[in-house]
Amino acid sequence: MTKHHPFTATLITIALALCGTSQCAVAGSTQDATSYADAIAKINRSHAQQPGRNKESDLVKLVPAAARTALKRVLQVKPSPALAPSLLQCGEAALDLDLIEDFGAIRARLVVVDPDAAVKLGKAVSRPRFIVRGIGDFQPGYLDTFADVCDGVLKAYDEVFGFTEFSKVPGKKLRFRVHLEPNITKPPHFAPEFPWHSEIDFPVADAAQFSSPSEQGHFFFYGLCHELGHVIAMWGDPKNMEDKHAWAHYTGVTIVEHLTESAKNQPWMARLRDAHWRALSLERAVPANQVPSSLASHGGVMAMLIALHDTVGPKMIGTALNRLDARNKNRRINLVRFYSFANFERELVAVAPDKRDKIAEAFGKK
Ligand SMILES: [Zn+2]
Repeated sequence: MTKHHPFTATLITIALALCGTSQCAVAGSTQDATSYADAIAKINRSHAQQPGRNKESDLVKLVPAAARTALKRVLQVKPSPALAPSLLQCGEAALDLDLIEDFGAIRARLVVVDPDAAVKLGKAVSRPRFIVRGIGDFQPGYLDTFADVCDGVLKAYDEVFGFTEFSKVPGKKLRFRVHLEPNITKPPHFAPEFPWHSEIDFPVADAAQFSSPSEQGHFFFYGLCHELGHVIAMWGDPKNMEDKHAWAHYTGVTIVEHLTESAKNQPWMARLRDAHWRALSLERAVPANQVPSSLASHGGVMAMLIALHDTVGPKMIGTALNRLDARNKNRRINLVRFYSFANFERELVAVAPDKRDKIAEAFGKK
């Protein structure tokens, strides 16, 4: 997100008033970076308000010539103390609109001007459905392999559930922010705060290769599958998670299990072995899940989701959520979709009327 320092405008005014040579360059790059970032923010804002059928590739074409020229000037201006922050601002903005060539040029300039700032900006891999941004000193090819895994996981979600739209803002690519940490202190998480796209924050500790689980027992692969479950649907409201955190667990173990079979010959799958510990088949045997379906506990919701999986099937689960999404039958908090089990049950009956009794049973009504 672009942040405007409250004093930026004042500083620009002072710099313009003093405009000798070096002050001009300072004011110029700051102002140009802001015009570039503002133009991108404007496109993203109006898209988020009215997405229509536009994809991110359509939005890229809307960047005005003046903003492109402003970026060109930032890239060509002589170094000054203001240049690195200006380049960083442009780099963040470029990633907000999948302007991957701009990002490459900005990063290349930053490497020369301020290598530490370039590390902070990171590298990016853009694929048709998402952008992977890597922050840290990763081995060559690491981010591409990570992107292969993301592609595989999204394809598995298509095959199993068939969700229409992942991003909370229709048409926008997902973002995965992978950052290298000395130790893993937090699991990956869906970061709902970004205004124009859905982003998963993903800390990793091994720069050499993406493998899972780690020696310390971190299930990165399952974590990725799990977080995409949150991106698709939250339940209830942020204070009262109606699903008791079972939904993303259910979709996560289901996708891990599916890929372990369907993608076993893919090179990126070779180092992903979470299915020994995280799989739907294992959940069926978990004692806490051997309870009647209910919204009262994690086990109760797991029992419900497993019963639905076995009777109506994951494709119908996907169809029901797609229909609720299309009719906007969900609560939106900062655009993030929050569903209710009452609406979900009604919609399942609508898409699979012949399974009405089984659905009621799965929801613990019979
Ligand atoms: Zn979770």
